[in-house]
Amino acid sequence: MPDATNVRPSRLLYATLGGGQARVLLCDTTAMAHEARRIHRASRVCTAAMGRVISAVAMMGAQLKGEKESVTLSLRGDGPAGAVVAVSRRGTVKITIDDPAVELPPRPDGKLDVGGAIGRAGRLAVVRDLGFGEPYVGQVSLVSGEVAEDVAMYYTASEQIPTLCALGVLERQGEDDWRVAASGGLLVQAMPGCGEELLSALELRSQLFTTLSATLEQETLEDILAQSFRGLQPDILQNIPLTLACDCSRARIARALITLGEEELADMRAQQHGAQVHCHFCGTGYDFTAEDLTALMAQAAPGPEKGREEGQS
Ligand SMILES: [Zn+2]
Repeated sequence: MPDATNVRPSRLLYATLGGGQARVLLCDTTAMAHEARRIHRASRVCTAAMGRVISAVAMMGAQLKGEKESVTLSLRGDGPAGAVVAVSRRGTVKITIDDPAVELPPRPDGKLDVGGAIGRAGRLAVVRDLGFGEPYVGQVSLVSGEVAEDVAMYYTASEQIPTLCALGVLERQGEDDWRVAASGGLLVQAMPGCGEELLSALELRSQLFTTLSATLEQETLEDILAQSFRGLQPDILQNIPLTLACDCSRARIARALITLGEEELADMRAQQHGAQVHCHFCGTGYDFTAEDLTALMAQAAPGPEKGREEGQS
């Protein structure tokens, strides 16, 4: 068993550059990626995919204001691993992937083939729920399925925010299994009125971001920030602890069952005399007896109905 206790706690730094001309989010999600791998019994490539998405959604979640706000990031590509869906509130993330067992050979450059697992054709969607009213939904086509490029494209095309994004997961062979040695992400965004000088300085440094995961294994977030943005006035405003945590409950799973519709619930009752439903995000099982299903059927629509967003279940 890999010892998770010696993995440094996941956290995120929120900083500004050039006296507020740009913002920087830098996170270490090593412990979270390790935990996601354990929960989903994920392959190496699916662990890398989840680690990247965890970092991306955590950085989106860190920009939320209120307790009730959440952001859902989903990548639905044509690759064998299927959809990856992650939800973040400030400081917490939950994640699921359709087929976590899918493994692919590494790319010619030795990197894990995350784009191959997710797929290069498909959609990236961001749903921002403020806890009231209609959620805000933005979508773009996938660029490469490698996640970082797709997230940068989302911000640039859908939100008109010039964005640099780097995401990295490093796995190493441990005594008896692979382990996540480092996982993290970096998001640099120009604020309105950001000067050309700072923009071009950032473009030049974007080369540095390609080795993020290896750097994370060796150095603290504070050191990486200070070194990567030397001369650009990096100023840390917040240090936010991050955890992989699920907010599922029996009531929430029951609501998801109701959206299946009366017919489907009747089938479950007839064939299995009940249902055991596992949360897609954390694996917790919830038992529903035949009587429970009868009660849910009374609240369900006669036919199948598409539920609201995945953030719900
Ligand atoms: Zn759960």
